[in-house]
Amino acid sequence: MKALQYRTVGAPPEVVTVPDPEPGPGQVLLRVTAAGVCHSDIAVMSWPADQLPFPLPLTLGHEGVGTVEALGAGVEGFAVGEPVAVYGPWGCGACSMCAQGKENYCLRAAELDIRPPGLGAPGAIAEYMVVDSPRHLVPLGGLDPVRAAPLTDAGLTPYHAVKRSLPKLVPGSTAVVIGTGGLGHVAIQLLRAMTAARVVALDVTEEKLALARAVGAHETVLSDASAAAAVRELTGGRGAEVVLDFVGAPPTVTSAGAMAGVEGDVTIVGLGGGALPVGFGSPAYEVSVASPYWGTRAELIEVLDLARAGAVDVHVETYALDDAPKAYERLHEGRVEGRAVILP
Ligand code: NAD
Ligand code: ZN
Ligand code: ZN
Repeated sequence: MKALQYRTVGAPPEVVTVPDPEPGPGQVLLRVTAAGVCHSDIAVMSWPADQLPFPLPLTLGHEGVGTVEALGAGVEGFAVGEPVAVYGPWGCGACSMCAQGKENYCLRAAELDIRPPGLGAPGAIAEYMVVDSPRHLVPLGGLDPVRAAPLTDAGLTPYHAVKRSLPKLVPGSTAVVIGTGGLGHVAIQLLRAMTAARVVALDVTEEKLALARAVGAHETVLSDASAAAAVRELTGGRGAEVVLDFVGAPPTVTSAGAMAGVEGDVTIVGLGGGALPVGFGSPAYEVSVASPYWGTRAELIEVLDLARAGAVDVHVETYALDDAPKAYERLHEGRVEGRAVILP
């Protein structure tokens, strides 16, 4: 089969032919229908060899949707031909976090060398993929696979980030979304569907801000050194109740800290390497800073339910598998509108 692989440290990914995978006992083979392209892959491909936590080559893609092609020995609960989404943050299934469905925070994944598809295990940007357990599948239930694939990360990650701050997002509150790309443009929609907060979106180009407004942002602000002051002004000096940073770079994290109001939440989702020093009086009193990772199995089911209810619509650019390297190039250049999705 064809697959998109990261093969050489620092080099762009390549479309190659690899042996067709077979499902082992307890595993499920999917025929991939759509796979999203996440900026985290760009971060992974920028790491030097001694920081890569898994061997190459690696088949990329951690946002996958497919149809069940074959069931490994002993697998029940899914039928051949059934359309499913893949829950990506695989865990052991048995520790106290996994028992709560929080496989994203599995306590034993590192020790057992369990890695997500596309981030260590063979991923979704291929004609077929093996899912290690039916526990990691959620029925698509009529959703368009192309728009549903990004929901498994670009939907699930912001959903988890928003959900933890829901008690603060009361009517009259303000939520800021920094970075309105793949994750951010879904975050805006989730905030609108789940809360009464006023949504302020920040990005670096007018095109991205236009998309932010089209998907529901009440206000947009160019992300520069004066952005925090602009958000303070929009909130009558109070600052935002919740700031979600989908960039996480030093300047955005600094802005995020400066625009959060008393008792606010600063949630750093982006892998941009920024850090927020916390000391008495700075950021504002009782601001909480968190860096969540992906989401739970139950939350993926909730995100798919929201999409089925029409509350979330991912903007997609589609690419054939042969053109997948071009999708990564465009993402790297900041030119993707919404999410790039590969159709193997
Ligand atoms: P993306 O490239 O689709 O979107 C990033 C957006 O940020 C773009 O619109 C870009 O124009 C904008 N941007 C860049 N610099 C900016 C700045 N200084 N101020 C404001 N906006 C700026 O990326 P994505 O796939 O949505 O991923 C976003 C980030 O989240 C990445 O760092 C990714 O690695 C990370 N991520 C984290 C998790 C997690 O679980 N924590 C999960 C998925 C992705
Ligand atoms: Zn991702
Ligand atoms: Zn576990």
